[in-house]
Amino acid sequence: MAKPSVAVPEVVGAASAAQAACPCPGTTLFPYPPPRGAAVVRRKCHQLLQVELGGMGAAGAACWGVESMRASSPTHAKAAAALAAGVDREDERAAAAWSARHPSALGKFEQIVAASEGKRIVMFLDYDGTLSPIVDDPDAAFMSETMRMAVRSVAKHFPTAIVSGRCRDKVFEFVKLAELYYAGSHGMDIKGPAAAKPPSSSSSSSSRGHAKAARNHNANKGGGVVFQPASEFLPMIEEVHARLVETTRGIPGAMVENNKFCVSVHFRRVDEKLWAELSESVKAVLREYPKLRLTQGRMVLEVRPTIKWDKGKALEFLLDSLGFADHTTVLPVYIGDDRTDEDAFKVLRRRGHGVGILVSKHPKETNASYSLQEPAEVMEFLLRLVEWKRLSRASLRLRLQ
Ligand SMILES: [Mg+2]
Repeated sequence: MAKPSVAVPEVVGAASAAQAACPCPGTTLFPYPPPRGAAVVRRKCHQLLQVELGGMGAAGAACWGVESMRASSPTHAKAAAALAAGVDREDERAAAAWSARHPSALGKFEQIVAASEGKRIVMFLDYDGTLSPIVDDPDAAFMSETMRMAVRSVAKHFPTAIVSGRCRDKVFEFVKLAELYYAGSHGMDIKGPAAAKPPSSSSSSSSRGHAKAARNHNANKGGGVVFQPASEFLPMIEEVHARLVETTRGIPGAMVENNKFCVSVHFRRVDEKLWAELSESVKAVLREYPKLRLTQGRMVLEVRPTIKWDKGKALEFLLDSLGFADHTTVLPVYIGDDRTDEDAFKVLRRRGHGVGILVSKHPKETNASYSLQEPAEVMEFLLRLVEWKRLSRASLRLRLQ
């Protein structure tokens, strides 16, 4: 069976880490998006790069840091205001062009399931903004019972993994389904259900990665996969979490969350006038920790180890170690809404098989092939998959009679 290369986690410089997250069209890391809107994306990309380098003492950090925070964290109020103000024809044309490049996964459902002909679908699902709505209180990002039932139904038919920036234990508390794989802390903390196979140590092209996996494969009580490529960073993350709690204490609404292998600083409840102060406070702490880097998601600043490990690597690891790496027999489907999910979409693009689905109401540069607007559409897509599988099996039984 062909094995994908799963890179051994290694420490990288902040600049290369920022570049790796760079969504600039035309770069080798983001090679295919069309040129429309490229200038805007490059501006945003420059801001992102500056944020990620901000902890290294670049001048004017607070200014562009806040602009980037605004760019990646549109609020419902702002979206509503934009709608109320109306959109011009150029915006409409741009939105239509984006929808043509990333059509609805519901509208193209038949095309997607046709691609799975003779293959086993493996589902990868982000949590926040994909299975649950984005809410003001991160601790209250509950998924609905109907969504839980949809995920449970999907998992009965297809191997299913939750891939989240959250701490694995916390995302499990939200999802509450023991039959799934969980990749928490952006894939730095992976655990499978009890019946899952441990990663093989006999792979060829990715032998270094698997050797590392084997070293980190703890003999957990249930016997499932456990992989923690950043375990050496645990004491440092604990220390930085305490420092960030202390340093942001005076900023109303700021919430620091320890996600075990990364720390999230949520600013969704912070007055926008204080975003610069918050950003500068976080970067001031990080200047003392060169082995940690700062990235940004929706309404959140995230402190992560400078290792080459992300949701894309977690996706590859799970496919490989669970025996799902053969593209002739498996079709991975990944659904996510955040910038960090782009790493997984990129992996699917590079491997040349698999289905990436971005959850977004608004056009944005993405490596995903399809789109869904919101968690309600994600649930509809999952339920249609279940129904399609049920009908396929019934049809097969009839043909065999
Ligand atoms: Mg998300």
